[in-house]
Amino acid sequence: MGNIVFRIGIGSFGAESNVFSVESPVDQLVEVLEGHDLLTFNLGKKTVIGGFLEVLQKFGAEVVPTIRAYWGTTGIIGKESFEHYKSELCKKLRQAGKIDGVLLDLHGAMVAEDASDAEGILLRDIRNIVGDGIPIVCVLDPHGNVTDLKLQSATAILGYRSNPHIDLFDRGKKAASLILKILRGKVRPVMRIRRLQMLGPNLGMSTWSYSPSETRRLPFAKIMEEVSKLEKIKEILDLSVFIGFPYSDIPECLTTVVAIADDKPDLAQKVADKIGDMVWKARNKFLKIRPLIPVEKAVEIAMSAKEGPIVLVDVADNSGGGAPCDNTVILEELLKRGAKDAVVPLRDPEAVRIAFAVGVGKEIEVEVGGKIDKRFYKPVKVKAKVKTLFDGKYVIRGPYHGGFKIKGNILPREAWKVVDVGKTALLEVDGIEIIVSEGRVGMEQDYYKAVGIDPSQRKIIIVKSHQAHRASFERIAKRIIEVDTPGVTSPSYKGLTFKNIPRPIFPLDPI
Ligand SMILES: [Zn+2]
Repeated sequence: MGNIVFRIGIGSFGAESNVFSVESPVDQLVEVLEGHDLLTFNLGKKTVIGGFLEVLQKFGAEVVPTIRAYWGTTGIIGKESFEHYKSELCKKLRQAGKIDGVLLDLHGAMVAEDASDAEGILLRDIRNIVGDGIPIVCVLDPHGNVTDLKLQSATAILGYRSNPHIDLFDRGKKAASLILKILRGKVRPVMRIRRLQMLGPNLGMSTWSYSPSETRRLPFAKIMEEVSKLEKIKEILDLSVFIGFPYSDIPECLTTVVAIADDKPDLAQKVADKIGDMVWKARNKFLKIRPLIPVEKAVEIAMSAKEGPIVLVDVADNSGGGAPCDNTVILEELLKRGAKDAVVPLRDPEAVRIAFAVGVGKEIEVEVGGKIDKRFYKPVKVKAKVKTLFDGKYVIRGPYHGGFKIKGNILPREAWKVVDVGKTALLEVDGIEIIVSEGRVGMEQDYYKAVGIDPSQRKIIIVKSHQAHRASFERIAKRIIEVDTPGVTSPSYKGLTFKNIPRPIFPLDPI
């Protein structure tokens, strides 16, 4: 007797929606892969779906691909776009004939027009198609929001367990193994959660660092050690801590622990509560471990440092959090103080167009930044020399957030990632290099290297990020400083008006 052949539907869907973003649905791009392309793209890759495929293939399961629709980090997703791709995915499942299970790679923080929990609605629709007896197992980003609708619709929800994220492949494998165990009648998963009155302080919630001494200092790393210990209990099938995505401003964008046990709801609850208590107790430590430094002070520290690189993190303009990437506050301060040997990335399609029109070596007078989001900062007028022009396509070969961690500097080929930030120009202004791109700027060394800058050789590097840069920059940075800039991903939420979150809530209210 060979294995029973299970037919597993797989799909990928999601976005990280920052509702404070000015980005309108007409500017949103969606990455789409359909049918077989979904498989060929991921086969052998260190992605969530790559993990699904590795386990399913080994077992001899039949894979039924649907689609991948991914909007990335942006604002509220347009209704038409959401509805269209949701129905495409559902249609493919309906046409698939009899399937035994569904594996999904979601983000979890997608907000669409009239659909504040867009991926929850997708899960509900899938549940309605496949019926109650079919397991639906999904992997979410830990910045996903674990809503009641998602919990009611899915059989099991797993999150990545690293921040910056480097375990997508492992979590994909775990989800696929779990669905096979369910289908073979080996386990009966029950999920229980502990939801905290907390907007997860993402900056201080790193789970790892390249430096073992820094890792030991991280409060969330300690909690994740306990998570690994609890998971050794035989009946605990999985345990994840979701930081949540506060900037999606929905009632359930809160830090949530999800425990999955084999037929033991009380045990699942006990374990979720134990980790939930630890996270709640550590809440002030998360805030304190990476304090926000005022812009003037941060630039002063960077300029007076004996050696670089000093990485200044423009936290309120996080490229990976739906921010526009055109915040000029740090640039202004650098120019005002006459800083040299600094690199500032900005998203500015107009400046790119002007640079391309005049060509390399030419001088231009141009306003940079501050054109997309006009509420928090303004454009800066500079006289610049165009140093490099480039099409914006590059390959991330070093460790990166959303990828895979290794000890060396270069990742194995199957973990490389091709990125396109749109046309890009390198401008030089009085010893400061400004990289202007049409799209959202990169958060890893490879982006800077792509325009000819070796970040390890510069004194001051600006990155637009919360966590992502750490996967790439931690090993070369002499110091990383989180700068208290204004904008739509501000960790102090300055200038952001929440409408839908429950109050009181940490850290906004005394609690
Ligand atoms: Zn994330």
